[in-house]
Amino acid sequence: MTRVLVAGGGVAALEAILALRDLAEERVSIELVAPEPQFWYRPLAVLEPFGMGTVHGIELVEIAESCGAGFTLDAVVSVDADAHVARTRAGAEFEYDAFVLASGARPERAVHGAFTFRGPADTTAFRNLLTEIQAGAVRHLVFTVPGGASWPLPLYELALLATTFLAERHLVGVETTIVTPEDPGRYALRFDMVNEGVAWFSGTGVPDGDAAVSVSNGFGASYAIGSSAFALKVGRPTSLAVTLTNTGTRTWPAAGSQPVHLGYHLLAPNGFVLVWDGSRANLATDVAPGQSATVQLPV
Ligand SMILES: Cc1cc2nc3c(=O)[nH]c(=O)nc-3n(C[C@H](O)[C@H](O)[C@H](O)COP(=O)(O)OP(=O)(O)OC[C@H]3O[C@@H](n4cnc5c(N)ncnc54)[C@H](O)[C@@H]3O)c2cc1C
Repeated sequence: MTRVLVAGGGVAALEAILALRDLAEERVSIELVAPEPQFWYRPLAVLEPFGMGTVHGIELVEIAESCGAGFTLDAVVSVDADAHVARTRAGAEFEYDAFVLASGARPERAVHGAFTFRGPADTTAFRNLLTEIQAGAVRHLVFTVPGGASWPLPLYELALLATTFLAERHLVGVETTIVTPEDPGRYALRFDMVNEGVAWFSGTGVPDGDAAVSVSNGFGASYAIGSSAFALKVGRPTSLAVTLTNTGTRTWPAAGSQPVHLGYHLLAPNGFVLVWDGSRANLATDVAPGQSATVQLPV
């Protein structure tokens, strides 16, 4: 029989043991190790501060028992992968044939000075914030999440619940702002008709329609050179006059800690990048939106 050790008591660990029992049936013995006695259904955590729901805890020992697995209340602290042995904080050793590590992510403070919502652990603190808002001590709420975070949904849920909370209590004059982390670039805006409460048209086989949209950080540029194709000779550096126009909404600083320069990338006919970080041409002065400047670029 294959001995499977699963570290974790979250949804990943539980799905693993349930699926294993279902697929491998009696060919595996399963041991679940987690430092907390209960599984917490965290999606409901955003409702708790508003008194609209409670995060349910389910005893891990019961879930383990229901699928014929053992349960140990402990944390795995080290694994000897060659010897197939895992050690726990309490000093126990588990021999295994297969080890599943499902210990989740550790919440970290990403925006210093901000209140970080980690889940049920912050219900009381968020409730206190709502009390402060009601008392008039908070006039502006900013909800933000750092770029690169893969699960920003709780932030949007908290922001929507907070605005509903304000509206229901007629708390006028409290401003709420969501600072989105989306990166600049080309995005697709997908149009789709919806029969409200029934279905999106695309779900019934009707093709949807895409439109390209660009999300800008305020920078924009257009480039003009005398001729779109010009001859370069090997070993003969030259200089090109390039006229740049600022088509964005931000001024290009010519100097300072983060100046804007003209550079270039050189691509082969097949698109292969030959030079990525080409030489630079400096701007003589700052270039405001709508203004143009001509620079000499050495290539
Ligand atoms: C406020 C909030 C709202 C969310 N809302 C949603 C939602 O609406 N929909 C959705 O799909 N997802 C939502 N998520 C995300 C979802 O909760 C996570 O994706 C999910 O919990 C990840 O599951 P996991 O098992 O990988 O990790 P976790 O749930 O983090 O579980 C990790 C487990 O490992 C245990 N553990 C840690 N260290 C050890 C160790 N050394 N040894 C053994 N065990 C260890 C922990 O005690 C815990 O039981 C939300 C998350 C939060 C915080």
